[in-house]
Amino acid sequence: MVRILLSNDDGIASGGLRVLYESVSGLGEVSVVAPDREQSAAGHSLSLYRPLRIDPAGEGWFAVDGTPTDCVNLALNGLMKDRRPDILISGINKGGNLGDDITYSGTVAAAMEATLLGVPSVAISLVHENGETPNFGFAGSFARRIAGEVLDRGLREGVLLNVNVPNISEEDCQGVRVTHQGKRVYGNAVVEKIDPRGREYFWIGGNSLSWVKEAGTDFDAVANGCVSITPIRLDLTDYEAMKDIEKWDLG
Ligand code: MN
Repeated sequence: MVRILLSNDDGIASGGLRVLYESVSGLGEVSVVAPDREQSAAGHSLSLYRPLRIDPAGEGWFAVDGTPTDCVNLALNGLMKDRRPDILISGINKGGNLGDDITYSGTVAAAMEATLLGVPSVAISLVHENGETPNFGFAGSFARRIAGEVLDRGLREGVLLNVNVPNISEEDCQGVRVTHQGKRVYGNAVVEKIDPRGREYFWIGGNSLSWVKEAGTDFDAVANGCVSITPIRLDLTDYEAMKDIEKWDLG
C-alpha cells in the first residue's frame, strides 16, 4: 500500500489541504501532519527551543503547534518513523509560490524538509489574485496526477517539484510547462504608520509587486494560463561562481 504524507503552511483547517486530501485519497493511505494555525512565510524554520505538541485531529490527521518544517520532521522522525511515506505533498497553498518568493515559503519548506530526509516531495500552490475567489478544484485533480507520476517514476536525489496552478478550470488550462524560477521585482514594501499610543510601527509586505518578464519562468507559465512545474535543487551552490572565487587573491 502506498503511503502519502500531507502537510501545508496555511494550517490544518485550510480548504486547500482538505481538497488535497480528498484528491489523493484513492492513491493510497493518507496521513496529514499540519500546523495548528496559519504559518505562511515561516520559511524553513525549525523549532529547537521549545517543546512541540501533537494533537489528533481526526482519523489520520494530526495538528502540531509548530512550523511546516516541524510537522514534516516530527512525522518522518516520530509519528511515521517505522512506516515512512512514499511521498510528501505540501499544499494546496492559497496563493502562488513563484520566483524568489519560495525562499520565504512554508509550503515549499515542508517539501524541502521531506527531501532532506529522503522522501520524494511536491509543493503545490494555487495562484490567485487578491480579491479573487480561490477555486481548488483543478489544483486538486492536478495534484493527484503529479503524485501518480512521482510515485511511478521517482525524483532525482535532492530535488523537489514546486508546482503552481492558475486559478482556472481544467478546460481553460493552456497546458503544463516545466519552468525555471523567475525573479520578483521588489518595491517599497514596508508601510510605516503611527499606532494609537503614538509609537511608530512598520508592516512588511506591500501589494501588487511585479516580476521580471522572461519566457520560461514559473511566473510566465502561470500568466499564460499554464500549470508551472519547477524542479528545485536543495544544493544551493553556484558552481560557476566557485570558479570565479577560486581566482580571488585569498592566500
Ligand atoms: Mn500559505
